[in-house]
Amino acid sequence: HAKHAGKNKYAFFTEAMQANTTRALTLSNALHDALEQQEFTLHYQPQIALDSGKVVGAEALIRWHSKTLGAVSPGEFIPIAEESGQILAIGEWVLRETVRQLQQWRSEGFAPIRVAVNLSYAQFQGNDLPTLISGILEEYNVPADYLELELTEHIATNNPEHTIEILKAFQQLGIQTSIDDFGTGYSSLSYLQRFPVYKLKIDQSFVRNMTTNTNDHIIVGTIIVLAQQLGMKTIAEGVETKVQLDLLKSIGCDDIQGYYISRPIPADEFKDRYLQSDRNIII
Ligand code: C2E
Ligand code: MG
Ligand code: MG
Ligand code: MG
Repeated sequence: HAKHAGKNKYAFFTEAMQANTTRALTLSNALHDALEQQEFTLHYQPQIALDSGKVVGAEALIRWHSKTLGAVSPGEFIPIAEESGQILAIGEWVLRETVRQLQQWRSEGFAPIRVAVNLSYAQFQGNDLPTLISGILEEYNVPADYLELELTEHIATNNPEHTIEILKAFQQLGIQTSIDDFGTGYSSLSYLQRFPVYKLKIDQSFVRNMTTNTNDHIIVGTIIVLAQQLGMKTIAEGVETKVQLDLLKSIGCDDIQGYYISRPIPADEFKDRYLQSDRNIII
């Protein structure tokens, strides 16, 4: 009987694996035409300074509505685009679209707002990224300090010496950088101190439970003190409640981002809600 059960289990496992592979292939094929078919858009999620309660920036997050597959989340398609190399073209589109949007808001007379763009590891390989980005900024006549670049802790630690070189080039260009999902990777303290980054983004997994779980509370507090010691700012991701907001404020976190303030929203909605007003959010 054991043998029989084992065989079924194996069959089930391979079917699940097969389904995953099929889905990945389907997505990869659909991604092929996605840029040309203009199936991508960007949503913007506001970032609020805890001392002033004002919107100080936004994160641009890609959205894909495939004509054949419907909406697919970036959590599902970004890893596939990374695997296939399609992320390079998609990543360049995200940069260009963000800078184009910044230029449009600027030409409409709104006060400057900084928008953060997520980068993938493949974009960091080679030495072209700073040139590409400064070229896009020039193309749209947008000042470098309107743009922020997010790299994950994984990217930062994968090839640290190379990453430091690229980060220095961004610093020279006047582009701010931040480390995304901080706390989930394995940054060594000696490297962290050498990364010329402006801000640490505290991963939402710690923020989620920090009001009920002592360990997560301690981790968040430790990241904030670490950032202060290194002369970096902190932003907490995934803030969903007032209790989390108040706790983060009391332990010295600079900025927050999360559903408590707003979900990521289309550009026009972001403009109506956060650019037209004096940007004061009642927190
Ligand atoms: P991320 O950069 O860490 O982005 C934060 C994610 O958390 C976003 O998911 C956002 O919608 C979600 N989020 C924000 N506030 C809350 C909250 O209060 N509660 C909860 N539960 N979630 C919240 P999204 O948009 O699905 O993106 C997922 C990931 O996909 C991003 O994580 C990022 O790693 C990647 N991604 C998104 N856009 C891009 C892009 O343009 N390029 C690259 N390379 N990666 C991207
Ligand atoms: Mg991010
Ligand atoms: Mg994150
Ligand atoms: Mg993430």
